[in-house]
Amino acid sequence: MFLSILQASYEGQSQFLSNLTTSEAFLMVVIVGVAGFIVQARLRSVVSKYSQVPMPAGLTGAEIAEKMLRYNGVNDVRVTHTGGYLTDHYDPRNKTVNLSDEVYHGRSITAAAIACHECGHALQHAKGYAPLKMRSALVPLVQFSSTISTWLVIIGLIMTASSGSQMLCWIGVGMMCVSALFSIITLPVEYNASDRALAWLEQSGLLFGEELQGAKISLRWAARTYLVAALSAIASILYYISLINRRR
Ligand SMILES: [Zn+2]
Repeated sequence: MFLSILQASYEGQSQFLSNLTTSEAFLMVVIVGVAGFIVQARLRSVVSKYSQVPMPAGLTGAEIAEKMLRYNGVNDVRVTHTGGYLTDHYDPRNKTVNLSDEVYHGRSITAAAIACHECGHALQHAKGYAPLKMRSALVPLVQFSSTISTWLVIIGLIMTASSGSQMLCWIGVGMMCVSALFSIITLPVEYNASDRALAWLEQSGLLFGEELQGAKISLRWAARTYLVAALSAIASILYYISLINRRR
């Protein structure tokens, strides 16, 4: 019973993929691209809005990050600052929470939300959160496959015309799937880091009411950029598959 459902769904999917036209797939890429543009614009406006709202306790992003880490028993992670705009990240290799200048020195709700989100990743690392481990394990593979996958498909398409073999194209698509898997695994990692950040901001009493709501909105729009990135990876795979199908 289970096997027949699986087989039916596989056949349904392969039929969907072989019937997918290049113009339909291209339309998906465009729609996701437009959605990405809207999400980025919205994120920037939300970030700039809540950058004007001061933290009730008047602490900087760096001070809040330190507090959150120590409160959760994480003592081997350093909080440092890094250049650029929205470049904040946690680096598991040297256990540092890297905050951009505006977040590090900032005393706004946005600064607090971003600082705590990055500490959320440090907490995931300290507690051995499985999706973060999987994501880290995929990094070297993704760095390799993302640089050559598109070229493999393009060279494969040219070669298909002369040799008739689509092998190279499908190897390229396989590598694109690794990158797509990476962006899908990124989703729970990002949502969970934000959940940890908001839970602690509320629990610690640093944020409440409308201010807490502002932090929620900022982190929600930041998470949507990762959702769009995952959808974009899937849409471009479908687009290349439709190109390969057309050469059949
Ligand atoms: Zn993150």
